[in-house]
Amino acid sequence: ADFFRPAFEAFDNRAAIRWFESELGVPLAHERGGRIFPASGRAWDVAEALAAWARRSGAEVRCLAPVSTLWLADGGVRGVVLESGERLEARAVVLATGGVSYPTTGSTGDGHEMADAAGHRIEPLRPALVPLEVAVPGGLKGLMLKNVELSLLVDGTVAERRFGEMEFTAEGIAGGAIVLQVSRTAVDALIDGRRVELSVDLKPALSVEKLRNRIGREIEALGGDTPVKILLQKLLPTQLRSVIARAAGLSLSAPAGELTERERERLATILKGWRFAVRDYRPFTEAIVTAGGVDL
Ligand SMILES: Cc1cc2nc3c(=O)[nH]c(=O)nc-3n(C[C@H](O)[C@H](O)[C@H](O)COP(=O)(O)OP(=O)(O)OC[C@H]3O[C@@H](n4cnc5c(N)ncnc54)[C@H](O)[C@@H]3O)c2cc1C
Repeated sequence: ADFFRPAFEAFDNRAAIRWFESELGVPLAHERGGRIFPASGRAWDVAEALAAWARRSGAEVRCLAPVSTLWLADGGVRGVVLESGERLEARAVVLATGGVSYPTTGSTGDGHEMADAAGHRIEPLRPALVPLEVAVPGGLKGLMLKNVELSLLVDGTVAERRFGEMEFTAEGIAGGAIVLQVSRTAVDALIDGRRVELSVDLKPALSVEKLRNRIGREIEALGGDTPVKILLQKLLPTQLRSVIARAAGLSLSAPAGELTERERERLATILKGWRFAVRDYRPFTEAIVTAGGVDL
């Protein structure tokens, strides 16, 4: 934070918003969670406005001219050397080559080698804001869970907690806002060889006791002969029914009225903390940002 403070003091989020709207002519829309997007919904409007502003300010933009190395001389940086062999001399060089995530966007990480060559220390690179590979049964692909509370457990202890949306993007892969938010801590813990788990509270608005009472009321309303499957339909998205029944040790075809107190308690407990292991994290190609890099 100390490293970034002077930059943000000089030009903070409000200044950036004003700059885009009044100087660059890009009206902005404010979305949930304090996120700002171009009102047009087109990222291209932002890119074009920035490029036009750079040209107006006297910048010469060289496209398709990758830099191969920094031009280092006399213990300092004298400019850059392009892949074509051309040397560009400069009073100062700003290295802004991005991380290594989503390399198709052009950021392949060669900037780290340049910084390293110039004597900077490079912290290990890890994917961040990245989906996680989780040990859940199949059939959850496309399942979106809204208004759930997610806890990240490291060696059995809660390390982070987030409320919001998560989804199962493919078999055994969890993504969505709250998973991405806890992923950085999860990735570091996995690298350290620690035990990482996720626990999802599917009913964050209810205590275990209130949930147990609700289960009782649902059974009463449905009639005791109704199978557990129908009871779970009242409480859960369809895709989760058999997963939760298995986790709670319940048979979907058993009559709900025959659930013992202990089984109801177990079901309520699982709904409040459906827990599964995190096996791994997805690669850089799927990470929104890179953690690590030039040591601040
Ligand atoms: C799918 C996705 C969604 C995202 N959504 C959001 C969002 O909603 N909000 C948000 O704030 N952030 C978002 N991000 C993150 C954001 O895009 C990055 O944090 C940001 O772009 C990083 O900026 P940068 O200037 O450091 O690097 P980059 O934007 O990666 O720019 C680096 C540039 O350097 C160029 N380059 C690399 N090597 C060389 C070389 N050798 N010679 C010449 N040029 C070179 C690259 O071509 C690239 O143009 C998202 C990222 C992804 C992948």
